[in-house]
Amino acid sequence: MLTLGCHLSISKGYAAAAQDAVDIGANTFAFFLRNPRGGALKALSDKDIETCRAILSAHHFGPLVAHAPYVFNPCAAKPDLRVYARDAMIEDLERLNSLPGNYYNFHPGSHVSQGADKGISLTAEFLGEVLPHAGSSRVLIETMAGKGSEIGRTFAEVAEIMSRQSDLSHLGVCLDTCHIWDGGYDIVQDLDGVIDTFDREIGLQHLYAIHLNDSLNALAAHKDRHAKIDEGHIGFEALLRVVTHPKLSHLPFILETPNELPGYAKEIAMFRKAVTAT
Ligand code: FE
Ligand code: FE
Ligand code: ZN
Repeated sequence: MLTLGCHLSISKGYAAAAQDAVDIGANTFAFFLRNPRGGALKALSDKDIETCRAILSAHHFGPLVAHAPYVFNPCAAKPDLRVYARDAMIEDLERLNSLPGNYYNFHPGSHVSQGADKGISLTAEFLGEVLPHAGSSRVLIETMAGKGSEIGRTFAEVAEIMSRQSDLSHLGVCLDTCHIWDGGYDIVQDLDGVIDTFDREIGLQHLYAIHLNDSLNALAAHKDRHAKIDEGHIGFEALLRVVTHPKLSHLPFILETPNELPGYAKEIAMFRKAVTAT
């Protein structure tokens, strides 16, 4: 069974998000634990979490993929911004323990004018401080498009951040199809080649989740603008090959396309129907 879902809001609680997921045919979902622009965690209701967990288990959900707020910059030049992101991420991870065994992905950050090497060092150091607090969760580095001064724009940069960790037991990678396409990895013409490169440079055993997005821009545009499925430069056929690839098909797939619930329901149905037909 394909593990497929989309990014959902938890503004009405965790149980409501899980029920939304069920209603649109999803068996995983992504969410922000707090406002993506920052702010504090909301008070948690035990009843809400309990109901959420019951829904997830009744419907055999795969791992959920929580997303760190965009505002976190693990390689910010200002130490107070890095400390803020570190402490808030640790707080998110402590909160995520109430839904055990799930994933938490984050953007490795923008070095601004410090240079990629410095950015990689700062983010590696940041991760070293966060990972001991991962609890029951796994923290995933997201592959980035290389917009502005983003790091994690190549598999080699992601591998470099990982290589500086002493313990990989709570770490992994989340591959975003829009980002790597925008980053110059041609998953339309050469998916096998891209997967081989990932395996050589990072190791497929470290890949835990996929963000399944089309892209508004051409290969190597370094833009990072998500398109609805089949309304971008990647297209449905190429994304279906990602979802059904024998080396990837067991992973959770998360749509982060510009949709409301009905649009997501439609995209999920498109993939499920095509996967059943193959
Ligand atoms: Fe992301
Ligand atoms: Fe993403
Ligand atoms: Zn993106």
